[in-house]
Amino acid sequence: MHCSTAWFRKQSLAWYDQNGRKTLPWQQGKTAYRVWLSEIMLQQTQVTTVIPYFERFLLAFPTVADLAAAHEDEVLHLWTGLGYYARARNLHRSAQQVVQEWGGQFPQQAEQLITLPGIGRSTAAAIASSVFNVRAAILDGNVKRVLSRFFALQDWPGTRQSQDQLWLWSETLTPSARVADYNQVMMDLGALICTRTKPACERCPLAAKCLARQSGQTASLPVAKPKQIKPIKHTHLLMLQTPDGHVQLSKRPNSGIWGGLYSFPEFADLDALEDFCQSYKLVKALDAWPVFRHSFSHYHLQITPVLAAIRRPLNEVRETEQLWYNPLLRPDEEQAVGLPAPIAGLLQKLAQAL
Ligand code: SF4
Repeated sequence: MHCSTAWFRKQSLAWYDQNGRKTLPWQQGKTAYRVWLSEIMLQQTQVTTVIPYFERFLLAFPTVADLAAAHEDEVLHLWTGLGYYARARNLHRSAQQVVQEWGGQFPQQAEQLITLPGIGRSTAAAIASSVFNVRAAILDGNVKRVLSRFFALQDWPGTRQSQDQLWLWSETLTPSARVADYNQVMMDLGALICTRTKPACERCPLAAKCLARQSGQTASLPVAKPKQIKPIKHTHLLMLQTPDGHVQLSKRPNSGIWGGLYSFPEFADLDALEDFCQSYKLVKALDAWPVFRHSFSHYHLQITPVLAAIRRPLNEVRETEQLWYNPLLRPDEEQAVGLPAPIAGLLQKLAQAL
């Protein structure tokens, strides 16, 4: 290591005392429940987006026992818009596990926290250090960026070798004293100073020994992920609409995309959709809406929505849970179910057309 751990910690903690974030909602009246909730929400999501969701969740479920007792649809409904819905389902399962296996109290060690669904090594360490003051190193996206630049890591941080190296640096630098503050400052530096583009090196407490800065590589590090061309998949969504405007939604299976959320019936192509409609004599007319694209991390989904006016709700027997949704009602008035963002957008358009 090209600098002493003592220097790194001292610089970071001194900056934290002056500039660190200390007024975030989950930092007030700190409990394991609040910190855990925030940590799960903050995975892949910015602080400003998370705050209103965090507050709504706490209002609906003030304790881990309340969350454990909730219906999954209610949890997914409150999560609508945050994305990565597996997080919400894991959150719910974790709450139930904390109640059933840990008597409603979160375990204190990172090795125990990691056994809960949706909690990885870094999240477990963040909770253990922040709430229980246990020395545990973190390595979230922000910390990876700071360390990749500070040590001028020349590989993409996602490789196994890079991960091992980054964890080793993080483990070595994490102090025993003031571990909660130290982990917070690492996240703060990544979020506020060592930002993805245009890092504010002139305000960075680590600048004097930062190898990326010294070698003029702050713009090119961390090394970008090797480019992959995402495949495009196609789907046709059937919006069956009754004369009074209700549309049919079905609950998707828990595995796969939009697991546990409500969506329109899906068809691989237009022929299959038309065949389905023809088998129901109640369908009056089909209206194909403009095609649009929704991107996931591994592929793009090209969506063709098709509106089908029907005379009355179909009484089909299907294995999934179904409801006839009124697009004119605000989602929180009733019908508290989770909706994927593209489906929520289509429901809004349907409401505008009514
Ligand atoms: S000096 Fe610049 S590049 Fe280096 S850690 Fe600080 S903000 Fe990041």
